[in-house]
Amino acid sequence: MTSAPQRGSSPSRSLSEPTRPILGKLSEVVETFFPAQCPGCGQWDTAACDACLEAMGEPMEVAHFLPHLSRITPDGDDIPLFPVWALSSYEEMGAVIRAWKARPNSMLDKLVGDRVDQLVRKAAGSFGEALDDATTIHVVPAPSRPARYRADTYVTGTIADRVAGALATRSSGPDLVTSIDLFAPRKGRQRGRSRRDRHKRAPVRLRADLDGGQILLVDDVATTGATLDDCWQALHQRKHSILGALCIAAVIPRGTVP
Ligand SMILES: [Zn+2]
Repeated sequence: MTSAPQRGSSPSRSLSEPTRPILGKLSEVVETFFPAQCPGCGQWDTAACDACLEAMGEPMEVAHFLPHLSRITPDGDDIPLFPVWALSSYEEMGAVIRAWKARPNSMLDKLVGDRVDQLVRKAAGSFGEALDDATTIHVVPAPSRPARYRADTYVTGTIADRVAGALATRSSGPDLVTSIDLFAPRKGRQRGRSRRDRHKRAPVRLRADLDGGQILLVDDVATTGATLDDCWQALHQRKHSILGALCIAAVIPRGTVP
């Protein structure tokens, strides 16, 4: 697919819309076989309990914990490529995120999505001036493997839609916000590749170019920053401007979570 990203005053996506209605029905069928249980604490009859969802809070700046984003300046300073905000630590939210990615789950789409929306709407000052000063923001989910798009477990796309929706309502926010699948699905782990090749990560490719505006990357989990660095390289080559990245959770050294 090479269609140009859509533009509009409300968030729009260029890839997922035609496929979602069908996959939505599949999700409902799958869910009837798996009774709801909070993956974080095991509480029954909820896809995620309030207490576990509250592990997500005010965005924290975590770029300095991600070694792949570190760049050493000529003066010897260690400066991250761009700011990365996380809503939680992976230690707290990992179980919920793993369950969310394991199979389609429209309840987790809604519960985690609503919490993301709430936090991004009210985040006061956490994002710094960059986000409030931008006139156009394209919210771009990090790419995943093709199977995840087919199986409707591309949760990063769901997060991007909710982040874009929330940013569009901020009074000090940008004039235009879109949610766009700018990256092509990322092939990898194919059968038949040599052991050595399997360890090489597939490159990140853009499916289209944007005409101006600034990009906010979105990912579910930031571990080392490798994926975000790969995204940055693909965008930077094409002269796109990146405001930062927002993740649901980041792997943060123990004892540093406020
Ligand atoms: Zn729970």
